[in-house]
Amino acid sequence: MSIKGIVTTILFFVLTGCYAQRSVPSTYAELIDPTSARKHLTIIASDEFEGRETGKVGADKAANYIAQQFELLGLTAPVNSSYYQPVELATKAFSVDTFEVGEHTFRHEKDFLIIGKRSKQEIKTDRLIFIGYGISDKHYDDLAKIDITDKVVLLLNEDEPRDKMGKSLITGQTKGSIWSTSNSKRMQHIISKKPKLILAISKNADTLIQQISKKKYAEKIQLKEDLTQENLSTDHSPTVVYISPQTANLILSSHGYNLEKLKQEITESGKPRSRVLKSTLKLSFGQKIIDVKAQNVLGYLEGTDLKDELLVITAHYDHIGVNPNGEINNGADDDGSGVTAVLEIAKAFARAKENGHSPRRSILFMMVTGEEKGLLGSDYYTRHPVFPLNKTIANLNIDMIGRIDPSHFAKADYVYLVGSDKLSSELHHISEAANKTYTKLDLDYRYNDPNDPEKIYYRSDHYNFAKNDIPVIFYFNGVHEDYHDIGDTVDKIDFPLLCKRAKLVFYTAWDLVTRDTKPIVDSHKK
Ligand SMILES: [Zn+2]
Repeated sequence: MSIKGIVTTILFFVLTGCYAQRSVPSTYAELIDPTSARKHLTIIASDEFEGRETGKVGADKAANYIAQQFELLGLTAPVNSSYYQPVELATKAFSVDTFEVGEHTFRHEKDFLIIGKRSKQEIKTDRLIFIGYGISDKHYDDLAKIDITDKVVLLLNEDEPRDKMGKSLITGQTKGSIWSTSNSKRMQHIISKKPKLILAISKNADTLIQQISKKKYAEKIQLKEDLTQENLSTDHSPTVVYISPQTANLILSSHGYNLEKLKQEITESGKPRSRVLKSTLKLSFGQKIIDVKAQNVLGYLEGTDLKDELLVITAHYDHIGVNPNGEINNGADDDGSGVTAVLEIAKAFARAKENGHSPRRSILFMMVTGEEKGLLGSDYYTRHPVFPLNKTIANLNIDMIGRIDPSHFAKADYVYLVGSDKLSSELHHISEAANKTYTKLDLDYRYNDPNDPEKIYYRSDHYNFAKNDIPVIFYFNGVHEDYHDIGDTVDKIDFPLLCKRAKLVFYTAWDLVTRDTKPIVDSHKK
């Protein structure tokens, strides 16, 4: 070797040595920074976004913010030139369309109440059958002389018939019988006669209406394609409409009756006074499918020579909304931290591309909706992929990376990894190498154990990719005291740690999009 050759070789090693200290990926990883992360998360986890519940306006605001950021970064809008992929969701809802008696119109959960998920029905009649207390006993039988099959009945849903002295016509004493102590006995008895509808006049109807309408329990949201007419209620048993005595009197007034008069007749005669009341009634109600508006937000960065192959980096932007007391769940860690990390990682890759260091493979940055409702956004994407799944080489999913769980208080430089070795041992090695070279976090694989009771592998969006044989890594800080609670706020986020974890995702991604061959799928671990 000539002197010149030796000098050149030495010079080469000196230069590459310097270069290794600040490699190309490191230059861009440095752009992932706590100050900018804090700016994003302060907005994403703000009260203005109202806990980002799927289908609610706060989630739409978060989606808009993310799309704006993608645009600022110069990412391509890949869904027919839009950043939004509409996710078709739906839910079941019970509603009453009409309730009219004579010329009176009544409003559900104001004037009357129907409990339960009833199937769709339309009821029309021109007569109501007053059945008194609806009792059939040896000495007193409201239903003896009247057929109520398929009829609309009006029922005094309280107490039992009494004489002028206040003694029960059934027991002969002031103390009532089982008919008034057990309301279900009365109802079961009437229902066994198969009426079409029971208008149950109840003293406590108003209280019941207030309680039930406050407690409004939300039906599960699903992918619309999974929710068909067959999923709707098929309960055709007689419907009970609870009405207050005031509402009953409105119904009765057009026939010159009132409740007190009807009760009085029974008291005075000591006999049932069931009868037909001429009155029109129209009631239509039922369970329906209601659309829920939601969208995934996608930003695309095109690669170079291997651009047809795609890496997908995900986080869910939805959270659990406002609690029943009106307090906002800001979801700073869950999963505002993941969204923030993906925005920072996207920034690093976008700058790299601008500076001529484009990834060879393409990258899809995707913020999904409906995770908290059952991984719906990622489920929808993998059923309706914007880019072919067989060209999707891996999914890196981030869900909660801004906090420290109780088992790591002593040493916070950690992150849980789940799934990295399940489908591709190569992906696992890539991830390990990225950490060993750059981030040097303590990688905790506790939740990767198939026997772990938490079953984390199945519990976030990456699983929908894994189901399709796409290798995944899930990044997670574990559960803490503020998980799914109003305490999950931005002030408790450790931004330097969030960024360090995000850098691990970035370096792993960098390797995945620049290497010659994609990670091979060589195992199917549970
Ligand atoms: Zn989450």
